[in-house]
Amino acid sequence: MARVYNFSAGPAVLPEEVLEECREEMLDYRGCGMSVMEMSHRSSVFQQIIDEAEADLRSLMGIPQNYKVLFLQGGASQQFSAVPMNLCGLPGASRKADYIVTGQWAKKACQEAARFVDAQAIASSADETFSYIPDCTDLPVREDADYVYICENNTIYGTVFHELPDTKGKVLVSDVSSMFLSQPHDVERYGVIYGGVQKNVGPAGLVISVIREDLIPQEDLPGVPTMLQWKTQADAGSLYNTPNCWAIYVCGKVFKWIAAKGGLEAMQKLNEAKAKVLYDFLDASELFRGTVRTCDRSLMNVPFVTGDKDLDAKFVKEAAAAGFVNLKGHRSVGGMRASIYNAMPIEGVEALVDFMGAFEAANK
Ligand SMILES: *Cc1c(COP(=O)(O)O)cnc(C)c1O
Repeated sequence: MARVYNFSAGPAVLPEEVLEECREEMLDYRGCGMSVMEMSHRSSVFQQIIDEAEADLRSLMGIPQNYKVLFLQGGASQQFSAVPMNLCGLPGASRKADYIVTGQWAKKACQEAARFVDAQAIASSADETFSYIPDCTDLPVREDADYVYICENNTIYGTVFHELPDTKGKVLVSDVSSMFLSQPHDVERYGVIYGGVQKNVGPAGLVISVIREDLIPQEDLPGVPTMLQWKTQADAGSLYNTPNCWAIYVCGKVFKWIAAKGGLEAMQKLNEAKAKVLYDFLDASELFRGTVRTCDRSLMNVPFVTGDKDLDAKFVKEAAAAGFVNLKGHRSVGGMRASIYNAMPIEGVEALVDFMGAFEAANK
């Protein structure tokens, strides 16, 4: 068996140890005589899996007791609708929402919110192909905005908020899909922090939303589908209907894997060391260059180009043949992108940089 180095932006590489454990438990989960995929979500065995996953996530992220952890379906994109529907359904809400648009995902979230409420972009980096994070120290946040929304790590463009915006006292909502559990977050600074897990944590089809309890509307929201009301899911412990049991199970294993590595601070150190290998190479290279303003660089997604489309294509092709796969950049940016999530070992990044060096020498 030959595992490649998978630089996909998502679904993405998972820790080999976790995959092996899943394999061992595939046919007979701990004496149950069946796999987790075949098991009732109402069984006590599954209840233990989801309870343990939640407890482990709470301890990893330091989630305070007054926050709910919801394991939901529909991916991060479903939360694009759920966020405005719930937060603008709270008593006294003005149904206004302010978005900081730093890429496709924030833009999509803003457009989706605008279907239901008065959503507007209060800052944007669209003028330079989202290659930077706008200054967020003095934003024109509306006085009666219900929340301020960010996409904290921009998967496609490779930027990250190194500082959270000044929301002028408004609730902060953050999509952390592509940086979920890559570093610590101070959960109390957010009203809602959520992520689709397939970028950094687990298999596709599960989104984890961590929501401050007072931001979950307690009255029924007319016109809002039952499944999209956070209260439905919160009251049912994420088991209102059949959840993505398999994804919850795998995420639970990843939580334990991260804890065994020393938790989120240790993850951040590792991710900083990995990213440094690649950024140092890009900064010294005469062929390749990063596309993002240096101070806004992501630790997770690293876009780069040669400046020549044909050479980019040649690189992607030769890299794949050498076992470095999924390096093609997003169709909206072109060039290359290496996603170096938690489960990408530093050896993978070092090997990629060696390969890039050899490619550069051969294509001078
Ligand atoms: C991938 C991604 C999404 C979309 O996730 P789905 O689970 O496919 O809906 C949203 N936001 C960010 C930041 C992403 O990287």
